[in-house]
Amino acid sequence: MKTAQLVIIGSGPAGYTAALYAARARLEPKVFTGIESGGQLMYTTQVENYPGFPEGILGPKLMADLRAQAAKFGAVIEDAHVTAVDLSARPFKLWAQSPWTSAPDLLAQSLIICTGATAITLKVPGEKTLIGRGVSTCAVCDAAFYREKTVFVVGGGDSAMEDSLALTKFASRVTIIHRRDSFRASKIMIERVLKNDKIKVLWNSTLQAIKGKAKVEGITINENGQIKDYPADGLFYAIGHRPVTDLFQGQLELDQNNYIVTAQSPTKLGAKTAAKRVGERDLITFPTMTSVEGVFAAGDVVDVRYRQAVIAAGMGSAAAMDTERWLEDQK
Ligand code: NAP
Repeated sequence: MKTAQLVIIGSGPAGYTAALYAARARLEPKVFTGIESGGQLMYTTQVENYPGFPEGILGPKLMADLRAQAAKFGAVIEDAHVTAVDLSARPFKLWAQSPWTSAPDLLAQSLIICTGATAITLKVPGEKTLIGRGVSTCAVCDAAFYREKTVFVVGGGDSAMEDSLALTKFASRVTIIHRRDSFRASKIMIERVLKNDKIKVLWNSTLQAIKGKAKVEGITINENGQIKDYPADGLFYAIGHRPVTDLFQGQLELDQNNYIVTAQSPTKLGAKTAAKRVGERDLITFPTMTSVEGVFAAGDVVDVRYRQAVIAAGMGSAAAMDTERWLEDQK
């Protein structure tokens, strides 16, 4: 079996940026993109908050450009899905599958995991065709498209509160659809939401369908047992994210929500890991390293908090730099 110096799993902004930096460091990284390459930005239209694009850029175009930039410097990009890993000893073992090529199984001296997270949605009728056309999972990214529009937010946690407040800066009316009669969000966020005149709450309500041909035009809700239709321009899901970490269960330290823990995790476990890794000159050694030496992680698979493309890209570059230094130390 061939041994790669570095394998990167995942092809969102974190994966491709890690590949770019690693390729320029002559690590000859091998990237497994997953079957649907490009990550969450493949499902968005205009991205207006990625620096460097004053006119905005289409999500799929940004990902194609990031991929081309990494390939230009020598990253070997394989459209294959990693189906299993064995991180119990070095070199690590990886098994991959591809419908297009015979993706080889591989040994890797080091690994950067950038498998991301998926926003949870409800899979109601209409959602699949209208995602990116009025159905969004990122209010921070898309709020500005809803100036003077009518929007709905599904959820009752901190994300739903934060998203609703962010949307009031643009939309004329924001309605929260929540399945129970109380929010689980923090008190201060609930207070802010409830005293905002632009926000209305539909309690004990569930989304049934999203309507529209080329864009969202309306939604159907079960409101306290009654089916009602509302006109709508936008529908935002804020019912949580699921990190893509099934492959690593039992092999890496994960937090209670299954996010990978590194010293960069914005959580108590992350702070604990960082405290254990303080080294020379009070610097944290290998901030992006996971609980297994030689395995690094970056992007939304670590980031329970921000989940932004630019932050994922930044973490990807940091992971590649940490990996380069760690591989040097092994010589
Ligand atoms: P969350 O706290 O898990 O809340 C998810 C919400 O979605 C809950 O209200 C839940 O309803 C609802 N929900 C889940 N599945 C549903 C379904 N199938 N149908 C309808 N509703 C459903 O997720 P989150 O709001 O994304 O927050 C995740 C973590 O990040 C939390 O720890 C949160 O405090 C933190 N966070 C912090 C900030 C901040 O501090 N600024 C901002 C965002 C997030 P139920 O309440 O009925 O279960």
